[in-house]
Amino acid sequence: MDFRFTDEQELLVESIEEFVARNMPEELINEMYETGVVPDALSKAWMDAGFGLMGVPEEYGGTPCDNLTLGIMYEALYEASACFSPFCSNVLAMFDVCAMGTEEQIKKCVQVYTETGEPPFCLAITEPGAGSDNKGMTSYTKKQDDGTFVLNGSKSFVTNGEDFPEMFVIAKDEDPARENKSFSLWIVPIDALGVS
Ligand SMILES: Cc1cc2nc3c(=O)[nH]c(=O)nc-3n(C[C@H](O)[C@H](O)[C@H](O)COP(=O)(O)OP(=O)(O)OC[C@H]3O[C@@H](n4cnc5c(N)ncnc54)[C@H](O)[C@@H]3O)c2cc1C
Repeated sequence: MDFRFTDEQELLVESIEEFVARNMPEELINEMYETGVVPDALSKAWMDAGFGLMGVPEEYGGTPCDNLTLGIMYEALYEASACFSPFCSNVLAMFDVCAMGTEEQIKKCVQVYTETGEPPFCLAITEPGAGSDNKGMTSYTKKQDDGTFVLNGSKSFVTNGEDFPEMFVIAKDEDPARENKSFSLWIVPIDALGVS
């Protein structure tokens, strides 16, 4: 197996190093660690530089690339900035909506994401008792007689959960049992009844 980067990947790493040198001085990184906040202007700069759209389908304005290149890009960002940044979970949420959302949901999300650098929703997948072990999730939905659904469960590690207006929540259909392999993805407003 050839582990060498392609010329394009080498160029990408150089561009990331330039981005960090220009936009992420040490004082800003220290401030981000102290406050736990990524400035809106930095998320926007990441988007404007084109990195935020890497891996997003072309039809939604993105620059398709393979997962290895994406991994190289984020590794270069973390190495150059010594900073774990949430840009990565922003684009993961975009991948989910582009793959599984309705045209209306995709349009809305792509618009907010490209304008601000942040999608309008965070990802609520991990649970206190289920990290890598996704089948161990116990959040589940139950369809009611009136056709609506009740969703019950606990999620943890929800990056930007305090700030974004909506959550993508993965829950099992009808039954929390380990054997149940049927899951659905729900868009839940952060101020929905019962969310805490
Ligand atoms: C900064 C940060 C941000 C995050 N943001 C989000 C978010 O926005 N939304 C969200 O849903 N989640 C988020 N997560 C959660 C993240 O996805 C989980 O931490 C991840 O799924 C791992 O789960 P865990 O921490 O419970 O570890 P575990 O799954 O318990 O794993 C613990 C260790 O055991 C190893 N391990 C696990 N299973 C096996 C196996 N079968 N064989 C061998 N080794 C194994 C793992 O590699 C790891 O070293 C975030 C986590 C961090 C640290």
